[in-house]
Amino acid sequence: MRLCRFCRWKWTDIVGLKYGCGNEPDNLALACAQCNQHKGSDLTTFLDSYQDIVVLFNPRSGDWFEHFSVDEGVIIGKTRIALATIKVLKLNEPERVIHRQLLQEDGLWP
Ligand SMILES: [Zn+2]
Repeated sequence: MRLCRFCRWKWTDIVGLKYGCGNEPDNLALACAQCNQHKGSDLTTFLDSYQDIVVLFNPRSGDWFEHFSVDEGVIIGKTRIALATIKVLKLNEPERVIHRQLLQEDGLWP
């Protein structure tokens, strides 16, 4: 099964990054509909806790497990990049967490 490179859920679409990049294979990553919708064309966000602009996780160059972990369906950010990505992609919206918990109980996620 192919997984979303952001939340590790099943993918439904391919995200092409903007800003001068096209649909070359090196610029594409699998993303589920929710991650794709929330990310849009964003590449960065402002993190209040750091008072700084932080780049989002790049699934093409980053290692998901280096930046994230999971605790009972909640995706935990281990880096500033992960925290920025969790914020923008709304990875821990309550319904997404509950969904992951239910899937995890059945051994279907991640
Ligand atoms: Zn996703």
